[in-house]
Amino acid sequence: MDTGASPDLAERLAGVAGRVADAARSAGRSPGDITTIVVTKFHPVSLIRELAELGVTNFGESRHQEAQAKVAELAGTDFASVGATWHFIGQLQSKKARHVREYADVIHAVDRESLVASLGGAGRPVDVFLQVNLTDDPDRGGAQPHDVQGLAARIQSTPGLHLKGLMTVAPLGEEPRRAFATVRALSETLRRDIPEASALSMGMSGDFEEAIAEGATHLRIGTAITGNRPTLG
Ligand SMILES: *Cc1c(COP(=O)(O)O)cnc(C)c1O
Repeated sequence: MDTGASPDLAERLAGVAGRVADAARSAGRSPGDITTIVVTKFHPVSLIRELAELGVTNFGESRHQEAQAKVAELAGTDFASVGATWHFIGQLQSKKARHVREYADVIHAVDRESLVASLGGAGRPVDVFLQVNLTDDPDRGGAQPHDVQGLAARIQSTPGLHLKGLMTVAPLGEEPRRAFATVRALSETLRRDIPEASALSMGMSGDFEEAIAEGATHLRIGTAITGNRPTLG
């Protein structure tokens, strides 16, 4: 098929897909059980269109105003036929939560009760991931491991929210596979209470193979597919 997408982009996308499939098979998993979300933050809408032409349907954004503007710009164009799933992967302020819920299908960084309260309620149901912080730096976002069970129960009992599972970002300067193994163990504990909360959003450009080895179901991959992000944004 002749698309307007750049050959480099097509090559990088195919390269990552091949690595995902190899990592899945090495872990005895089916590549079809893994969703690759292409993170398009800072990039223009034209890149999102190119990715859609190449068959991408899952897009990740991390800043509310930017994401809202992009979704609005693409609505009502032929992009709508793609049936895209929008993932909001960034830190989220409670006061913006309702707005993000208007366009996001999945919210990945739910990490505190005040945010759960702001997100809940009437309207289109939204899938959420509970973010786990594996550092002791609260600025990195995420709930501490010992708060996971309580927060998960709170999400489960909040109308309008559906808990898909856990999300994490591997801490800098640590072996990522160990971090992912920690979250996998937390997920096993969580599933005793909430069996359907079985998804794991973990793995970025630099560590998605390690994440797949530890059971990741949702990869959030930016630069390995898009190339470097523009510095202005
Ligand atoms: C930007 C971002 C990513 C993608 O990072 P890359 O290293 O470009 O793959 C993944 N997850 C989160 C939360 C991000 O903010």
